[in-house]
Amino acid sequence: MSDRIEIFEVGPRDGLQNERQILSTADKLALIEGLNASGLTKIEAGAFVRSDRVPQMADSESLHSRLKANGFRGDAYYLVPNMNGLERAVSVGVKQIAVFTAVSDSFNRKNIGMSVRESLSLIREMTESARREGIRVRGYVSTVFGCPFEGRITAHQALPVIEELLSLPVEQVSIGDTIGVASALGVEEVIKPLVSGGSVPGIAVHFHDTRGTALANALRAFQLGVRTFDSSIGGLGGCPFAPGASGNLATEDLVYFFKEMKVETGVDYQSLCETSLSLLGKMQGRIPSSRALQAYQANCEKNSVWDS
Ligand code: MG
Repeated sequence: MSDRIEIFEVGPRDGLQNERQILSTADKLALIEGLNASGLTKIEAGAFVRSDRVPQMADSESLHSRLKANGFRGDAYYLVPNMNGLERAVSVGVKQIAVFTAVSDSFNRKNIGMSVRESLSLIREMTESARREGIRVRGYVSTVFGCPFEGRITAHQALPVIEELLSLPVEQVSIGDTIGVASALGVEEVIKPLVSGGSVPGIAVHFHDTRGTALANALRAFQLGVRTFDSSIGGLGGCPFAPGASGNLATEDLVYFFKEMKVETGVDYQSLCETSLSLLGKMQGRIPSSRALQAYQANCEKNSVWDS
């Protein structure tokens, strides 16, 4: 087992999309470049979605053009829901996109107005077009462990959707605990069959810390061989289905956890925390849900060197 993991940073998209405050393009650029400087190379930067529905992502074209003009050296990913989104991505020279579906039909219909089956055939079409354009594709599967409308989801329900996505020309499939209900046992039930099928390099996990179980789930996934973990700076994002509750696992918590286990993350912890604090300074009243970042901030005030 390799002692190195890769962190896929989703804060600038999955995080900021679920925050009330809309950040300026300049602030997003500073954030993305700060994340990259701290060692994060794969960053979900924006989304080509309807700006009337998701105003937080309305500047994705200009954001990507400015990242390119600044010579951004990481891989910037953009969420794309349909062919129109893909055309917008192509028009500004995007090289990495993310497509998404879910295990449960009710969630998928509310989210994108189509069944899981319909979305999988759309994704098939999109991945083929993307490949012709030389664009790499990452796939997300939401509601793998539970659905806000249908309740508990079993591995038996989830695996066929994950396996179908893995059979398409995608570089990776990210397994999402959309409402933060997964347990280490549930993680094992989904991941083990995929590992024994030889899919590990193509698997990422996207845990939410809604009920405080995200790190335990990450550890279980790591033990089973998973090496790519999604997380969001500062824990930005909240839980869209439980207002006030935590959402995305915080990158600081994930980096702290693995660095203390001597697992290489490629991320400089102190530089990451400073990037978070500088971002939060621009977001009025936003308290980090990251426990590690709260401790970092408190220790800095006391001049403790524990975190450095
Ligand atoms: Mg998320």
